[in-house]
Amino acid sequence: TIEVLKTTSSAATNDPDGGESNLVINLDHGDPTMYENYWKQKGEETTVVTSSWQHISYFSDVKNVCWFLEPGLVRAVTRLHKVVGNAVTEGRHIVVGTGSSQLYQAALYALSPPDSLGPMNVVSAAPFYSSYPLMTDYLKSGLHKWAGDAYEFNKNEPYIELVTSPNNPDGVTRQDVVKGNNGILVYDLAYYWPQYTPIILPADYDIMLFTVSKSTGHAGTRIGWALVKDREIAKKMTTFIEINTIGVSKDSQIRAAKILQTVSDSCENANQKEPESFFDYSYKFMDERWKKIREAVNKTELFSLPDFSHETCSFSGRTFGQLPAFAWLKCEGEVDDCESFLRRHKIYTRGGKHFGASKKYVRISMLSRDSEFEILIKRLPAIIIS
Ligand code: PMP
Repeated sequence: TIEVLKTTSSAATNDPDGGESNLVINLDHGDPTMYENYWKQKGEETTVVTSSWQHISYFSDVKNVCWFLEPGLVRAVTRLHKVVGNAVTEGRHIVVGTGSSQLYQAALYALSPPDSLGPMNVVSAAPFYSSYPLMTDYLKSGLHKWAGDAYEFNKNEPYIELVTSPNNPDGVTRQDVVKGNNGILVYDLAYYWPQYTPIILPADYDIMLFTVSKSTGHAGTRIGWALVKDREIAKKMTTFIEINTIGVSKDSQIRAAKILQTVSDSCENANQKEPESFFDYSYKFMDERWKKIREAVNKTELFSLPDFSHETCSFSGRTFGQLPAFAWLKCEGEVDDCESFLRRHKIYTRGGKHFGASKKYVRISMLSRDSEFEILIKRLPAIIIS
């Protein structure tokens, strides 16, 4: 069972910290609630009103390869990539999905030949996003199978390599690692946004996945998009979604489009009508959190965090190192199972083995609300081995 942060009344306990030390903080999931305050102060600007007669049809644009894609979302996605400069949209088909999770599965379906002798190998360099093995194998498909860490893959067989950049869980900028020419690359760019990493170049790959979950924090809207060069692959991905869910919620697409347009507006109006853009706000927010967690970790010999080299962001002009959505924390010294160790201190995290890595590591969400994050940075330096 998952326990979440509960507010304990200080009157009910005799604890000097008001019962805070009893609270379980659950930082296992990457639930991106941290931008809630930004969106609250936007007020009416991002409100979408829908009447019951609207969005009734299954269809959005029958002339488009992705016939359930709302034209308003196409405009919003294309504009935002141009404003940020993080991906090339020219000559690409856009496929919308119920989160980028559905697009991941659509891509595997589209890229795995239906008539081959065995299932297609799917790999990603460890530590890899813990959902990839689950999403690849949960239906025990004959089309594809999880083949593990890309660094270890040495079969002379076709494969799909997932390149997650910046990477979940460790925030590292990545390139493909399998040496061979039998591979198809899928780029998961969920975190290639200027609050998490300096934008260096517009990404220009054949298949790129994005999501509102981590760019604007609207995970509950469940909207992702794929930028796909090859028309046949875009068509097959569309077929997967057609069979799987007969399209993607129009209400969600329209809401996502409104939010993405507001983000582009905030960038273009920054320093004029608005004090700061969404990405200025979210960059400062992540920078602040990383300063605090580094300070907390530096107070103890028990843990360490990765270091990142600094680069200049073409979007903001700022020079900085990665500010990942997760802290990839290592237990130094004799603690072998960092997840269980932190659990005993009521900090729930996801252990390294879920990511194909050592149990000495855990992934801690940096995307929680302030209340949980503040407890984390107080509790970490206070931990001693007993
Ligand atoms: N890819 C990566 C690397 C992620 O971290 C996540 C979210 N945790 C996803 C994909 C899935 O995002 P969505 O909510 O769009 O399904």
